[in-house]
Amino acid sequence: MSQAVAPGRIEVITGPMFSGKSEELIRRIRRAKIARQRVLCFKPDIDLRYHKTAIASHSAQTHDACVVPNVERLREALFPQIEEMEVLGVDEAQFFDEGLLPLALEMVHLGKRVIVAGLDTTYAGEPFRPIPDLMAVADEVTKLSAVCMVCGAPAIHTQRLGASRELVVVGAAGLYEARCRAHFEPFTGSDEQLLLPT
Ligand code: ADP
Ligand code: MG
Repeated sequence: MSQAVAPGRIEVITGPMFSGKSEELIRRIRRAKIARQRVLCFKPDIDLRYHKTAIASHSAQTHDACVVPNVERLREALFPQIEEMEVLGVDEAQFFDEGLLPLALEMVHLGKRVIVAGLDTTYAGEPFRPIPDLMAVADEVTKLSAVCMVCGAPAIHTQRLGASRELVVVGAAGLYEARCRAHFEPFTGSDEQLLLPT
């Protein structure tokens, strides 16, 4: 008779830009490593900010990560190491495709701890898939707020500044800021829903 594997855990860390998602992910990963657990980290290659092969926060904290273009390639990189891996970390998860949800569920059934960090809303203030889907099946959701750059209140939104219609604006310091609900003005100049980069 085959022995059942104890289930793992899905944790989602979410909120707007500058809310400390990457810092919190890095903090959890560091603690897992102190507990001598084997951790693998991934992020999408669309996020080239600060460092090509690391998770990076706005406060310049980093942790090694494997950069992959999509969930298919993430799987290819992950599966040869799956026996040893105990914790899977994913940053900027909003830029991965919807294959991330079945992958997270597969991992949790194999007894892995999955920690996913990503934006919950676009700069239009709308749900940013696949994060809401992952939140729905998570064991724990941590929704962080940033500080509103207009009034200093807790901020749940990411404000796009200016009227750029560019799809990809890499290294776009000063293009986004955190805003509270009262000061958020949804960007209406384009149909495009992507928010880049965080
Ligand atoms: P996220 O991954 O959610 O975008 P990071 O972990 O990269 O956030 O960065 C969080 C850090 O950003 C904070 O600890 C702080 O140093 C800095 N920061 C800059 N602007 C803000 C803001 N408006 N609100 C909160 N933190 C900010
Ligand atoms: Mg981040």
